Order: sequence, then structure tokens, then C-alpha cells
Amino acid sequence: MLHSYHNHTHRCNHADGTEREYIEEAIAKGIKTLGFADHVPMPFENGHYSYFRITLDQTEDYIKTLWDLRDEYKNDIKIHIGFEAEYYPRVFPRMIDFLSAYPYEYLILGQHALGNEYDDYYSSTKTTDKSTLTRYVDQVIEGLSTKKYLYLAHPDILNFIGDDDFYRAEASRLCAFAKENDIPLEINILGLRVGRNYPNTEFWKIAAEMGCTAVLGADAHSTRHVCERDAVERAKAFADSLGVKITQSLEDRLEK
Ligand SMILES: [Zn+2]
Ligand SMILES: [Zn+2]
Repeated sequence: MLHSYHNHTHRCNHADGTEREYIEEAIAKGIKTLGFADHVPMPFENGHYSYFRITLDQTEDYIKTLWDLRDEYKNDIKIHIGFEAEYYPRVFPRMIDFLSAYPYEYLILGQHALGNEYDDYYSSTKTTDKSTLTRYVDQVIEGLSTKKYLYLAHPDILNFIGDDDFYRAEASRLCAFAKENDIPLEINILGLRVGRNYPNTEFWKIAAEMGCTAVLGADAHSTRHVCERDAVERAKAFADSLGVKITQSLEDRLEK
């Protein structure tokens, strides 16, 4: 894994390591491209405080730090500046407007909650409720339709443990949209490493059948998990076993 676009930093309150430490680790491992996608600052219109993301006042320092480091290390590694961002319909225009003041390069969509976060439901909560799964797929498709996202992180985060046929139908709907719109889907290495409900084998069977573009996402919350070899090998074996083809580099998409 030579290109990695999903890495966090200490700024989101649940990860360790400074930007420089992640970069040094990546260089030591021979990685060519390191993209930062820490949890986006979210200017909730009601002042809601979300503890797991960069705060609004930290944004400037995050961007400035990465901007300077990108230059400092330019002969050793390519650095990209991004965010992992949910699509919350009520907050989205404010979020885009807030971010427009900064020279970031990309967003990845990670739909950690439904609705607008403060008024709804965490995606990783187990459920057998069909309408919850449908709402997840609808919300993700609506988010991706904004064309603001480079790819969809852990597309299979919604923890549905109900009817299998229904799951397959909704997963197919999401995969078909991603395929039609050429949006890469992420096999999330963190989820695989710690045994979360994602990556979901049923989901990825469908993604493979439909020929969706897949990327590996380290989702590193600690420097040692930057392209950690054993975990990457496991993710590749997972993909191979289901016939999922992995796209390594997204550089051509970032240049657009
Ligand atoms: Zn996180
Ligand atoms: Zn995530």
C-alpha cells in the first residue's frame, strides 16, 4: 500500500500522533502518498458540540501545519490535505462554506450518523429495522450526489443484522450508484483489524459483482497503523477472496 488517503491525527480527540509523526512513519515505511482526512470541523447551526472531530478554531492550525509540512517533506513524500466528513443535510452548506476559506484538497464521506448527528442515530448501532438501512443508503447517495466527495469510506458501516435479502437489495442500490457515478468505495482496514461490523462480506460480494472501484483505507488513528503491513495484507486477502479489485492510487482524481 503506497498511497494512503484516510489518516487521522490527535486533533480529533480520539487518535494519537501529530501530523509530523504520521509523515515520519509513512516515510520510514516507504509510502509515496499520505493523505490526511481527519474528522471535519462541523459548524452545527444549533451550536451542538461533537467531541470526536477537529474544532472550528483548530482548523486553521491543521491546515497551516500540513501546508508547511507538505513543503518541508516534498522530496520525500507527497502529502494531501483533506477531511473525513459526514453528509448532514442541514449542516452541509454551512460546512462547505466554512471550509471554503481553507486550501484543502478533498473530502471523503464517512456517514457515522444519520440525520444531522444530534437529532438521529449512530450508523454502527445494531439494528434489524429496514427503514434505518434505507435511510442510510438514501442519505449517502444524496451526499455523494453533491459531487464533493473523493470516495466513500466504510460504505458498509450501517450495522444491519436483519433480513439478508433486504440487506442485499439495499447494498446493491448503493453499489450501483457508486458504479454509475464512478465513486470508489473503501475497504476499511481499521474495521477489519479490530473486528467491527465492517468490512461486511455480503456487501463486498455485491461490490465485486458490480465491478465497483475499491480502495484500501487505513483509517489510522495512531502512527503505527499507517499502512501497517499485516493489516494491509489481511485487507488484500479479503479483497482477493471476494474478487474485489483494488485501485491503489487516486492521484489522477485529485489532480482534477
Ligand atoms: Zn475516528
Ligand atoms: Zn470513519
